[in-house]
Amino acid sequence: MDGWGEGRKRVASLAAAVDIPAGGLETRRRLKTCPTQNRRGFGSGQINCVTLRFPRVPARVSESLVLRTYPLKEADLVVSFFTRDQGKLRGVAKRARRPKSAFGAGLERLSHVRMAYFQSETRELVNLDSCELIQSQFGLASDYLASVALDYLAEVSDQLLPSAEPGEKFFRLLLAVLEELRNQPAAGPWCAVTYFSYWAARLSGWLPELDVCLGCGSLLDDPEAPERAYFSRGRPGLMCGHCRGAVGAEGGASELSAESRVMAREMARRPLAQVAAAGWTQPKGADLRRFLVQQIEAHVERKLITVRLLEAG
Ligand SMILES: [Zn+2]
Repeated sequence: MDGWGEGRKRVASLAAAVDIPAGGLETRRRLKTCPTQNRRGFGSGQINCVTLRFPRVPARVSESLVLRTYPLKEADLVVSFFTRDQGKLRGVAKRARRPKSAFGAGLERLSHVRMAYFQSETRELVNLDSCELIQSQFGLASDYLASVALDYLAEVSDQLLPSAEPGEKFFRLLLAVLEELRNQPAAGPWCAVTYFSYWAARLSGWLPELDVCLGCGSLLDDPEAPERAYFSRGRPGLMCGHCRGAVGAEGGASELSAESRVMAREMARRPLAQVAAAGWTQPKGADLRRFLVQQIEAHVERKLITVRLLEAG
């Protein structure tokens, strides 16, 4: 049997496997008339579109975290979502703002979902078909601080993640941080947020050395002569007291405490659940968060709008 006959057979069995509405018969007829069309969409790593609503385009289903949504026209949404297998993508969710849409509550920020979508090689935006909720963050909605922390995680991820580049470690980081927020609501978000900021900067390649002055190269953590460490907006990394004096005229240098530098080393070595064991309040690690946020902002070349709300919370 040639490729065309094979394709026809597969489409016929596919059509038989689903309940095709009256309008779908036309689609089925069209599929039978185009051999090249039938050969598309059967490649490895792709599933066939069983609804036959977009018969020309292969469909994918990816485990994803929804990052942000933006209104489009009166009923649609543009969705930025982070897939486990393809990295960050953007797509259009048609009629998502209508009641009883195919997306339900799955497009809330940081919902963990299985997203079904269609990709075209010629278009930057994918077409979202539907999503199946794996884990919602709805339980955190009533906690203002946790809710703002979610906004922060989503904003940082959306800004830092490159388009269409898989980032398994970043994906696992988000899952771990979300789990911590859900499971330990009484602990507050501070440890989770600090841990996330550290690893988000590090996995993106924007975490400088924390034990070296980037001004003169001297070791800050020399056990025989420990140095105090400072940072200031617009300067990468940390600097020693001497170098801080040299740029002092530019003003605004803050200290990164020895305690916070130890904390950062802990975060580098341990999973979040172990770091989170100690009691955390907002002041703990605030200087480290400020330092990390400045590094991230310098990289994305804009201010993170959720930071002020979070730290004011
Ligand atoms: Zn120095």
